[in-house]
Amino acid sequence: MNKKDDVLFDAIIVGAGPSGSSCALFLARAGRRVLLVDKAKFPREKICGDAVSGKSIGILRELKLLRELQAQVHSKIVGVLMGAPCNKQVIVPFPKADGLDCAGYCLRRIQSDNVMFDAVQREKNITLMQQFLLKELLFDEKGAVRGIVGEYEGKEEKHYAKVVVGADGAGSAVARKAGLPPVPAEHLYMGVRGYWRGVEGLGENIELFFIDEVLPGYLWVFPMGDGTANVGLGILAQDMKKRKLHPNKILLNAIENSPMLKKRFANAKLEGNIGAWTIPLGSYKRKLCGEGWLLAGDAASLVDPFSGEGFGNAAASGKFCALAIDLAIAQNADAKVLEKKMLLQYDKDVREKLYPEMDISYKLQRATRIKFFLNHFISKAADKSEFRQVLINMLANDEDKKKVEDPLFYLKLLLP
Ligand SMILES: Cc1cc2nc3c(=O)[nH]c(=O)nc-3n(C[C@H](O)[C@H](O)[C@H](O)COP(=O)(O)OP(=O)(O)OC[C@H]3O[C@@H](n4cnc5c(N)ncnc54)[C@H](O)[C@@H]3O)c2cc1C
Repeated sequence: MNKKDDVLFDAIIVGAGPSGSSCALFLARAGRRVLLVDKAKFPREKICGDAVSGKSIGILRELKLLRELQAQVHSKIVGVLMGAPCNKQVIVPFPKADGLDCAGYCLRRIQSDNVMFDAVQREKNITLMQQFLLKELLFDEKGAVRGIVGEYEGKEEKHYAKVVVGADGAGSAVARKAGLPPVPAEHLYMGVRGYWRGVEGLGENIELFFIDEVLPGYLWVFPMGDGTANVGLGILAQDMKKRKLHPNKILLNAIENSPMLKKRFANAKLEGNIGAWTIPLGSYKRKLCGEGWLLAGDAASLVDPFSGEGFGNAAASGKFCALAIDLAIAQNADAKVLEKKMLLQYDKDVREKLYPEMDISYKLQRATRIKFFLNHFISKAADKSEFRQVLINMLANDEDKKKVEDPLFYLKLLLP
């Protein structure tokens, strides 16, 4: 392992979560030589709501890993139950994901991430270093990134590549070392989650509660298929700063006191601890690449600002990174460093394929901060089948999602 100092990899990827593993697999399968490092030893936990949607499933299918994912303990998700501050509830079915009898799954990240990690271990083009902690980036005299410095087995190691991918999650060290400012608090969710066993009334829906106890945040209950539910709270970091209570307390208080939840949790037991982590949202448009570097997944701030879903965009952005790097190497065979101008296909892919959906989600996130809107929206969907159909259509296709930008939509919402 230590004699890699003189190897020039095509790419070094920092982080082996869904963005880094996806990037490594697509690059390796295109014949590129990759060094993938992660500070953790896999299988490793990741604090998450554990829901994987159609987008994630599409990438896993492309990587020929869907069967392995389906072999893990999971629950099938067919719709979403939404609870309003006025305690009305509505269930809206999700459209089915391509080739599935459901919209997506819930399964523990220790399992889903490990499916990708196992595939990484089988690729001969990937050199893997676990428990490697990135400390610094190496720059050339022009300020372009040439490699990494990290701590490995108690020693400092340096490695070089044509490009470094920061797939190292929220609080990315690569982004920081590349000189980027942190994601602002108005574009960052604070998330906490725990696993409860014995929650009553779990079905095949994910459940989102926009209730007084947590507003302007939301509480989720996701069935895990193993008798437990992943229960968590997402709230903007800027709003969290204004609350006096610790987020764990807000979550526990909601479970104990909300009229929609307290009976269901009366005999439920928390297993293990409540964990907390930050969620960088796609409403913040971070610089995505520079001289000799790119960012993917949470490091690039690509989580859906409404649903808090980041696995799918992480895996998709890992793929887009790999495609851009492969293209840049093909077009610049002699380049020792991939310059920003060679990597712009990545910027284009994220802007065209990921940002539009997140821009709409951001509008929805802003709207659901308003209690009056939530009460009206959920009550109307509960009482009127035509309006429920509008919601189903909005979940099913991108054109209908744009209704959230249309003032007429809000007018219709207010009419009886
Ligand atoms: C409470 C909560 C709930 C969520 N719920 C959902 C959900 O239900 N569905 C969903 O799709 N998304 C959800 N998300 C978001 C999702 O977890 C992330 O978007 C996703 O994990 C991003 O993947 P990633 O590969 O970019 O980063 P990560 O999965 O965070 O992986 C980053 C990797 O980098 C490694 N690393 C970090 N720093 C270093 C370093 N210095 N050196 C070496 N290695 C390093 C880490 O060990 C880690 O393995 C949730 C997030 C939170 C916090």
